[in-house]
Amino acid sequence: MEKVYFYNTLTRKKEEFKSIKKGDVGIYSCGPTVYWYQHIGNLRTYIFSDVLKRILNYNGYKVKHIINITDVGHLTSDADEGEDKMERAAKKEGRSAHEIAEEYFRVFNKDLQKINILQPNLWVKATDHIDEQIKLIKTLEKKGYTYRTDDGIYFDSTKFKSYGKLANLNISGLQQGKRVNHGSKRTKTDFALWKFSETPGVRQQEWKSPWGVGFPGWHIECSAMSMKYLGKKFDIHTGGQDHIPVHHTNEIAQSEAVTGKKFVNYWIHGAFLLFKGEKMSKSSGGLYTLSELENLGYNPMHFRYLCLLTHYHKPLNFSLDNLDAAKNAYERIKRKIIYLKEKKSKGEDKTEKYQKEFVMAINDDLNIQKALQIFQKSLDDEEFDSYEKLKMLEHFDKVLGLGVAEMKEERIAIPSEIVKLVKEREEARKNKDWKKSDSLRQRLKDEGYSISDTPEGPKIERK
Ligand code: AMP
Ligand code: ZN
Repeated sequence: MEKVYFYNTLTRKKEEFKSIKKGDVGIYSCGPTVYWYQHIGNLRTYIFSDVLKRILNYNGYKVKHIINITDVGHLTSDADEGEDKMERAAKKEGRSAHEIAEEYFRVFNKDLQKINILQPNLWVKATDHIDEQIKLIKTLEKKGYTYRTDDGIYFDSTKFKSYGKLANLNISGLQQGKRVNHGSKRTKTDFALWKFSETPGVRQQEWKSPWGVGFPGWHIECSAMSMKYLGKKFDIHTGGQDHIPVHHTNEIAQSEAVTGKKFVNYWIHGAFLLFKGEKMSKSSGGLYTLSELENLGYNPMHFRYLCLLTHYHKPLNFSLDNLDAAKNAYERIKRKIIYLKEKKSKGEDKTEKYQKEFVMAINDDLNIQKALQIFQKSLDDEEFDSYEKLKMLEHFDKVLGLGVAEMKEERIAIPSEIVKLVKEREEARKNKDWKKSDSLRQRLKDEGYSISDTPEGPKIERK
């Protein structure tokens, strides 16, 4: 097996990946809170973990991948205060929390498929694992890591020696801190394991527990479900970088406090998708969903391609201009692949050379930009036997997920009046009447068609 390197947030170093069990890898990815649509910022994080998993598959590992669905306990503030996002959405939409969870999960999963994200081996829901969460809290209680307040059971972060190691938090600063309001918590970095229902019978989602009727805190679900399906210690945990200081820090503390051993070997985090320089988020209001991009005439794969162009560790500024550039590049690749499928040409078999370069790139902490350059270079290599080339590119696509095997000419029925306008425009171009040609292009655009001039002639696409 070739060596694979990842940047591990825990050690702040690029490290050679070594799985716990030879040939097998367990990956847990923090999934969506299903109270609303996931935006394309969220989707960037899933594209990154998809590529990570594809790389391990490509290297011959058998991957077990789990993604959770948060359908209870995620409060509007990460500081264990505010309303449960699911309860709030249920009230607002006048539907049950269960219905809401089902609906947004369905849309989310459809989006994942549109951007060619492989399904995990298991989707696991927080509300299906209440017993497991209660069991962990009981163990923490027995071991002396918890305390009770009037609104819940909390984890005492001062009792866990290496608390905050993942985020390199200045713990003494945070824990002594200024005299800020921590709600009912003793220390700012403590966190809720179980919250009591304010008035039992009012919330839609609540359960009996040894401490009273209530619901689990947000972090405990990920410890309970990851350990249940991947073991007490497993290989890789992923999520967006916003999870480093709170959610993942707390997951480590409570899991290691329970088991007394290391929880996860590699913590790998994706950087944000930004909009106008800020993290794309529901609270900032500047966001797009995948369907919105589709309504603007983009193919979801244009967004996947855009994400692949920036290293997962770097922030990516989203704009429609960037997306247009990615769209053009993706469509260019698509045209070349279609051409490659149609026009066979004999030549050298250069698979080995390109393959070697490709593997080196992907195994170097997901250097997908480099891998894409190799993909492009080999695609444009005219001495490369077309049959072998296509076979190799389809193989590379197991990592990139661009949909090479499915690429084919899409024949769209173009109404005759549109064809007439295109012909008129061609005529104007021949006569170098650029003004007329531009105004015809605009008319086509108004009718919902875009036109691009290729060496083979004008190409019309429905926007
Ligand atoms: P949530 O539904 O808020 O729990 O988020 C789901 C996933 O999306 C988490 O892994 C977050 O870290 C990630 N995420 C949230 N906002 C962004 C963003 N703007 N860019 C990239 N990832 C994000
Ligand atoms: Zn999580």
